[in-house]
Amino acid sequence: MEISKMGNLKAPGPLYEMAQHQFLKAAKLMDLDPNIGNFLLWPQKSLTVHFPVVMDDGRVEIFEGYRVQHNTARGPAKGGIRYHPETNLDEVSSLAFWMTWKCAVVNLPYGGGKGGVRVDPSKLSEKELEKLSRRFFSEIQMMVGPTKDIPAPDVNTNAKIMAWYMDTFSMNVGQTTLGVVTGKPLDLGGSEGRPEATGRGVAITASEACNVSGIDISKATVAIQGFGNVGSFSAKILSEEYGAKIVAVSDVSGGLYNPEGFDIDDLIAYRDQNGGIIKGYPKGTPITNEELLTMNVDILVPAALENAITEKIANDVKAKIIVEGANGPTTEEAEKILIEKDILVVPDILANAGGVTVSYFEWVQDLQSHFWEIEDIRRKLTKIMKRSFGEVFATKQKYNTDMRTAAYIVAIGRVAEAVKKRGYFPM
Ligand code: NAD
Repeated sequence: MEISKMGNLKAPGPLYEMAQHQFLKAAKLMDLDPNIGNFLLWPQKSLTVHFPVVMDDGRVEIFEGYRVQHNTARGPAKGGIRYHPETNLDEVSSLAFWMTWKCAVVNLPYGGGKGGVRVDPSKLSEKELEKLSRRFFSEIQMMVGPTKDIPAPDVNTNAKIMAWYMDTFSMNVGQTTLGVVTGKPLDLGGSEGRPEATGRGVAITASEACNVSGIDISKATVAIQGFGNVGSFSAKILSEEYGAKIVAVSDVSGGLYNPEGFDIDDLIAYRDQNGGIIKGYPKGTPITNEELLTMNVDILVPAALENAITEKIANDVKAKIIVEGANGPTTEEAEKILIEKDILVVPDILANAGGVTVSYFEWVQDLQSHFWEIEDIRRKLTKIMKRSFGEVFATKQKYNTDMRTAAYIVAIGRVAEAVKKRGYFPM
């Protein structure tokens, strides 16, 4: 028997099918038990909700939202909730699928989940945003809980919204339940080190990638696409703690180049006073995003969007190492070209797992009502990221494959073992 998309099961859309291809490539190479493979190909539970919100002008608007749990064999589901006008069940299911592997690759006791609401939050008033958030969380309450499914921020959601979610859940169950969401404000059960966590994980994996490639990171040049949470913290930690030179950065407003290397604190301060964008910063020459992605640097960090490195761009990429800060920044076709060019791609499910790792620390602290110092957080995160990189790299060597497939092999192996030991209920 082969693992197959058998019977009349249907993927929720093309993105999910692409994710299934990544899974199947690894499953074949590791000779995965087809019974387990067929189970892991599909999301376990998907909920679509339609719910009303009374807008400021008295109209009642109906919104569509989702919560998907891909697999919970290793523990409760974990994954963010995004607010975006284009989000859909295909995207949310794919992100839930990736969360299963991301949690497993860094060995967290979680399964994969994700949620979303089709809305442009910039068009809502503060009051409307709060009402939408509280009603949506009530609608998905049957799926979430500190031992069932623990949401977190994602695109266009933040600590303030997590506080509303936590309060809504707590009001509905009649007790304050800090562990139901992560990414909360620091004075409401949040964790030290969460804002920097994904960028720190990117910097640690970049350093490990340099080690195995014979590159001295303190002499390395870096280009970073995206200067939001992930991009700016990656830049800051790579330059301040590892001595790398950040020669190019970009965001939605375009890119900047400085062969001497940017002063990242100065650039962050400029961005914060300039409506969140880097355009107009005087200590750099304007470049396009395409020029940034194809720049002659040691390390390229895509930390903005999905599908940033396309087939066309991949042909011109000159970086020796790519560390995927963003989720899904490399297309399937582009990846084949990068592998042929012998570029080391540290895949998203490993490179940006620092965020979910510190979310896990937040949840543990909430459950114990005992909060850790920033030094403890950084030390534990560093240990997990280094160990995970080492395991994935060793698997790459063993199977003579690429880093993404190796990361899947490590992750699938862990989830498959949990499924096997739990058995198929009812037997
Ligand atoms: P963010 O909103 O803070 O920053 C996004 C950045 O990308 C901004 O600087 C924005 O201007 C830039 N950008 C948008 N469109 C662009 C374009 N067309 N070209 C160049 N730059 C563009 O988001 P973030 O939290 O930094 O997330 C970035 C990526 O990392 C996303 O793919 C997200 O899913 C992923 N990620 C984030 C975390 C986290 O903890 N924040 C964890 C894991 C993965």
